[in-house]
Amino acid sequence: MSIKLSDRINKLQPSATLAMAAKARELKAQGEDIISLSLGEPDFNTPDFIKDSAIQAIKDNYHAYSPVDGYVELKEAIAKKLKRDNNLDYSPAQIVVSTGAKQALSNIVWSLLNPGDEVILPCPYWVSYSDIAKLAEAVPVEVQTSIENDFKMTATQLEAAITPKTKMLIYSSPCNPSGSIYSKEELKALAEVLKKYPEIVVVSDEIYEHINYSGNPHFSMAQFEDMYERVIVVNGVSKAFSMTGWRIGYMAASEEIAKACTKNQGQVTSGANVIAQQAAITALEEPVSKIQYMIKEFAERRELIINLLSEIKGFECNQPEGAFYIFPNISYYFGKTIKGKTIKNASDFAMFLLSEAKVATVTGDAFGSPNCIRFSYAASQEEIKEAVKRIKNILS
Ligand code: PMP
Ligand code: GLU
Repeated sequence: MSIKLSDRINKLQPSATLAMAAKARELKAQGEDIISLSLGEPDFNTPDFIKDSAIQAIKDNYHAYSPVDGYVELKEAIAKKLKRDNNLDYSPAQIVVSTGAKQALSNIVWSLLNPGDEVILPCPYWVSYSDIAKLAEAVPVEVQTSIENDFKMTATQLEAAITPKTKMLIYSSPCNPSGSIYSKEELKALAEVLKKYPEIVVVSDEIYEHINYSGNPHFSMAQFEDMYERVIVVNGVSKAFSMTGWRIGYMAASEEIAKACTKNQGQVTSGANVIAQQAAITALEEPVSKIQYMIKEFAERRELIINLLSEIKGFECNQPEGAFYIFPNISYYFGKTIKGKTIKNASDFAMFLLSEAKVATVTGDAFGSPNCIRFSYAASQEEIKEAVKRIKNILS
């Protein structure tokens, strides 16, 4: 074929999480007995009260384009949620609804970064931050953290990474993939550094806000009064309400940033799906107690997987306080040959688990932490038990 793809797309990495999930799906379709602990998506059905609201929206003839930044009723529901759960004041004009939190992140990057601007990413970071930034020709600056510090970036590390080109910091808390949660005090220490650099925007990805086992309430850096103006809060309904495929996320920021994101979105998608927007209003208006049954189940699975993995030699884990991932350091296996296969790195290890144990995970390389692999425990307890049993068997 004489048609050439763009340099930009040629340089872009496929999403490693989605790629592994696709591979697992393909192998299953070929009849292989694969247990997929790769994709981070709740395995519960969307709750009935949300589904009913979507059905009603179809019956009520929601069919036309919504405003680009989302229905004002949804933005009001988001503003109320941000006040109720986070004590944050936003007007609907400061909120943009998007096709998933992923598009909210993309809007933010395209609206704020110029080629060459640096984006600080504490490792491990969620897989798409780096490639979304690269697509906009920005430069990801990875900050390595340690398992001893629960995979969290310290204020000293942050300050050392800042250069005159730094324009943005992006992190998730609770974190995908480490499950770590920055405490209010830890965020305060980071904010103290950032105050010296007023040109840096902070993107606080809070999509796992409700999946929190720490016993402490969720805290957002935007809650510090002197940071509010330059923190962009990103959130969505995918994880807490088991609505990954409905594709509704949102961001809250200054009106100027919200307007810029709306302008970008208006040229790219025209706005999010209207039926899903109506359902998201219902989801966000209900008290969080309605989804506690899912959080409770995740908490049990977390205990289960922590305990089971601790029985396998060479799996060094932190205690994830949130989200539904565990991110063991498996570098003990590097250089070892098992079942005739030499494991050089985390990608080899993940492929080894897939081919020999028929368990799909995601390599830590994708998250900027090449000594680790990620397990999603958004799977049934039976699947988790069976997966770890298989892994134990092939490694012993
Ligand atoms: N941020 C993080 C940390 C995630 O794990 C995900 C995964 N879905 C997203 C954003 C994107 O979520 P959404 O489904 O709303 O696009
Ligand atoms: N966020 C999920 C994950 O990390 C879903 C996949 C994706 O959106 O990339 O597995």
